[in-house]
Amino acid sequence: MTKNMIRRQMIARRKTISPSEKQRLDQAIHNNLLDRPEWRRAKTICIYVSLLQEVDTRSLISTSLQQQKSIIVPEKRHEETHITDVDLFIVPGIAFDPKGYRLGWGKGYYDRLLTGVKAIKIGLAYSFQIVPRLPHKKYDIPMDIVITEAGIVIPAEEPGSSQDKTWIPDQVRNDKKTT
Ligand code: ADP
Ligand code: MG
Repeated sequence: MTKNMIRRQMIARRKTISPSEKQRLDQAIHNNLLDRPEWRRAKTICIYVSLLQEVDTRSLISTSLQQQKSIIVPEKRHEETHITDVDLFIVPGIAFDPKGYRLGWGKGYYDRLLTGVKAIKIGLAYSFQIVPRLPHKKYDIPMDIVITEAGIVIPAEEPGSSQDKTWIPDQVRNDKKTT
């Protein structure tokens, strides 16, 4: 499937989540994230401000401020903003795959923002947004971790290999069986 087909499908699917279901999923994603050592250790976090159907970050932002963390919000109009001293990037996405590759809105905004960045990159998504594989090119920057309500995808680790909630979604497992 092309990036555009996956985009259209995922955007449509995401619109079907009811507000109460969304709240439940967002809460579970927040709990999984707040538990992570990468979050606890981070002093400065670059995080998106969620819009519409994106995984909510508004309550995460207030939690991080309560935890005395510094927050940087990527500013879409000023791509040249340099983001040094960030320990952790929290990134939205339309889809992710088990290698950490990410599908955005098609402008390559986060690919540019994250080029050369060594800090940990965490993508937030609902579990249905994890697809078996995404087309990717040289400039696509993969995530180190993808957090969903159902579990955590860590591309560098085998699922279930650590005490973490590393996990492989059914749609990925089933795809592997048939190929
Ligand atoms: P997205 O990551 O938003 O899903 P794509 O990966 O399809 O979107 O990238 C969209 C466009 O952005 C591509 O055509 C690519 O040429 C451009 N692009 C991505 N990363 C960079 C970069 N680091 N420098 C310059 N252009 C880039
Ligand atoms: Mg890309």
